[in-house]
Amino acid sequence: MKVAFIGLGNMGGGMAARQVADGREVHAFDLSEAVVGKAVAAGARGAGSVSKAVQGVDAVITMLPAGPHVRKVYSEEILPNAPRSALLIDCSTVDVESARAVAGQAKAGGFRFADAPVSGGTAAAEGGTLAFMVGCGETDFADVERALKPMARVVIRAGEHGAGQAAKICNNMLLGISMIGTCEAFALAERLGLSPDRFFEIASKSSGQCWSLTSYAPWPGVGPQTASDRNYEGGFAAGMMLKDLKLAQEAAAKAGATTPLGAQAAAIYALFDRLGYGGKDFSGVLQMLRGELAGLNLE
Ligand code: NAD
Repeated sequence: MKVAFIGLGNMGGGMAARQVADGREVHAFDLSEAVVGKAVAAGARGAGSVSKAVQGVDAVITMLPAGPHVRKVYSEEILPNAPRSALLIDCSTVDVESARAVAGQAKAGGFRFADAPVSGGTAAAEGGTLAFMVGCGETDFADVERALKPMARVVIRAGEHGAGQAAKICNNMLLGISMIGTCEAFALAERLGLSPDRFFEIASKSSGQCWSLTSYAPWPGVGPQTASDRNYEGGFAAGMMLKDLKLAQEAAAKAGATTPLGAQAAAIYALFDRLGYGGKDFSGVLQMLRGELAGLNLE
């Protein structure tokens, strides 16, 4: 299978490498020459532009920052140049409207399209263990699943176009809320004189248990190795979480859903970002709640 991979950043680089490892011919493009070089070192063929990357391929996979990038790259470069038989899959996290708009353009041009955002960070991208939530036509799903398989732990069809993004936004709103709740609990435990590892052990086995606690504990040295053990470097940037929480708030306003804790989570991450910590892992919000930002090295 020949695959064009567009967007080789923190996530796309690892994902493209998984496609190569599965024996696929990968034509890779990114605006950054440095990351194209990394993809070539991993076995991909570097392409000089999106239009060159998509020539003659069976599938096009995009992993771009946000909705405006996706709309532009599809309407100006992919749709005019890819073969009509190519399966188009956008794995970026974008607003539901952008996903539906691109799907509509693709359909009008005779293409099959899927929105397929992911859950799992850079380690899952490199390890091929991402969870994909897919919005596509029912009859297209088997081919979408086949295209995504080398990068996936699980591929689930959420529904028609846009449903993958809807699932992603809801999931990440829940994650943002649960991470802040976990951080608040650690900060309160500290004030009450509880040791963080005792609190971790007890809450992990009690009704407060959640992924943000047991798999991604925000307190350094507690639980499995996470970004908190690296001064909150790497992992999932707070600025990216803020983007997802804003998408959730926009979607809630349009759909008339009531999401007061989602709104609070967006406000808390907006403050953390405004203070200059948007590049830190999203669990670093613990330090803000502890009043310990001075220890959060920005270099
Ligand atoms: P990133 O900024 O590291 O990578 C995006 C890449 O797209 C960059 O290399 C950039 O140069 C490239 N790009 C931008 N415009 C382009 C264009 N016109 N043509 C070609 N390349 C272009 O971001 P990331 O962390 O890899 O995230 C990508 C997407 O995945 C985002 O939508 C993000 O929300 C989502 N996501 C990220 C994570 C994570 O942990 N980082 C987890 C799940 C989902």
